[in-house]
Amino acid sequence: EVRVRFAPSPTGNLHVGGARSALFNWLYAKNMGGKFILRVEDTDTARSTRESEEAMLRDLRWLGLDWDEGPDIGGPHGPYRQSERASIYKELADKLVDEGVAYPCFCTDEELEKMREEAEAKKLPPKYNGKWKTASAEEVQAAFDAGLTPCYRFRVPENQIIAIKDAVRGKVQWNTDTLGDFVLLRSNGLPVYNFCVAVDDAMMKITHVLRAEEHLPNTLRQMLVYKALGFPIPQFGHMSLILAPDRSKLSKRHGATSVGDFQKQGFLANAMVNYLSLLGWNDGSEKEVYTIPELQEAFAIDRINKSPAVFDKVKLSWMNGQHLQGLPEAELNVLLGEALVEQGGFKRADGPFVEGLISTVLDKVELVTDAVEEIRPLLGYPLEECLESKPAQAFVEDNLGELVKAVLEAHESGELARVAQEKDWKGWTKGLGKELGRKGKRLFMPLRILITGRMQGPDVGEQLSLLSIGEGEVVEEGLFM
Ligand code: GLU
Repeated sequence: EVRVRFAPSPTGNLHVGGARSALFNWLYAKNMGGKFILRVEDTDTARSTRESEEAMLRDLRWLGLDWDEGPDIGGPHGPYRQSERASIYKELADKLVDEGVAYPCFCTDEELEKMREEAEAKKLPPKYNGKWKTASAEEVQAAFDAGLTPCYRFRVPENQIIAIKDAVRGKVQWNTDTLGDFVLLRSNGLPVYNFCVAVDDAMMKITHVLRAEEHLPNTLRQMLVYKALGFPIPQFGHMSLILAPDRSKLSKRHGATSVGDFQKQGFLANAMVNYLSLLGWNDGSEKEVYTIPELQEAFAIDRINKSPAVFDKVKLSWMNGQHLQGLPEAELNVLLGEALVEQGGFKRADGPFVEGLISTVLDKVELVTDAVEEIRPLLGYPLEECLESKPAQAFVEDNLGELVKAVLEAHESGELARVAQEKDWKGWTKGLGKELGRKGKRLFMPLRILITGRMQGPDVGEQLSLLSIGEGEVVEEGLFM
């Protein structure tokens, strides 16, 4: 059975890169009928928070990436939070010390700092000098007797080649001589990241470790731990970096990078998932717009690309438009109607009239917020802007003044509100036409412009009935909103 995992460190928000890692694992599990496990890597106690964990779980749920085992739902190989697994790490570290594969090291911070400085002076990467590697049992006992607490270091074998066949990058190999004896457990008892990851992946029976390329160098240490503990080695696959359109590393300065930000901006979860799936994967065809079941069906590890992917918000917005326009009409009307009420300031936004409006603007809409922007001016317009608008100016010669006066008076006296409430557009315009000696285009065109600022649009009477006027909610700068 395929078992894959997403193992975030809860030190911030879920970002595009993490979400892509989670997604590829989830898709692979779904494709293979396997299990997707969520493990929280919170051994960095200074930076990990419960709020961050909760926010990450919330964002994963929003994306629809459900897990089969995890800190919130448990499972047969738990606990799924590294901070709750301390006794497991301790036991295995002790076992490695008993077997001589690891050893206690009593070096002080000052001594370690000196090693770093010496390496730096020689322009070499810092490497433990092996001081306690060959210490005799008596020396070790003496240090314990003196009340010192050691860290545990892994005894790295000399001059060995460790190779993996990475599912994305092919053969990758290292010489163990590049590595100093690394720490498994710190002297304060906290386990070190590379030790935990290997132990957990093995104990949680993870079959495939798909993760970001930045973790490739960690794989050497993890391989040594697997081997020393006799654990089976999973299939590794290291996914390429995600870059910004300018080919630099994607970061905050490129705008939103966290999943939560995109949700707030009105992106659809399915569009987000579809877009993320194409960051370093394709099915070999030109197809770009997928439903989630289609992605689950098509996803394959051997089509993960090893060159960097570029995160392009323009493309994501386009993708969102594709998904939005593809929603069933009823769902779309509810979604956009809610946005019109919440963000557009309408008292209600449902029924055939609004649905008609939605369908007329839909092909211009990529984000839900675009729909609000498109529809808002169709339903109400600040009067001043309206009078300055080109179409309105065209009517100025036609003695528009008397009409403006009439509309303003009707607005101020509450007459327009009555028209809106009683849906008496026909009656009111008839009276007005008579009074001013206007009819047909000369009456209705300027009225429309005055009320909506546009030459074309939906039925103005219907429009009035949707607006908040008449309930004392007229917004300062506009007549009707
Ligand atoms: N906890 C690591 C991170 O958040 C992931 C480790 C892994 O996938 O092996 O980057």
